[in-house]
Amino acid sequence: MLETALITCPCCWESIEIDLDLSGGTATYTEDCQVCCRPILVMLRVADDGEQFTVDVRAENE
Ligand SMILES: [Zn+2]
Repeated sequence: MLETALITCPCCWESIEIDLDLSGGTATYTEDCQVCCRPILVMLRVADDGEQFTVDVRAENE
């Protein structure tokens, strides 16, 4: 199941929309910011029902 989430880039503080693949469950990966192109560490937590999720982001190099 694909979802989109609005996040704030920890590097340039712009709001960007990212695609999330909930079918893989909880995951941590990097995604390049669409504005400043720097890598963002995305920490996706998917609940047991596979529908509720939370997203945390931080700069990859912190
Ligand atoms: Zn950015």
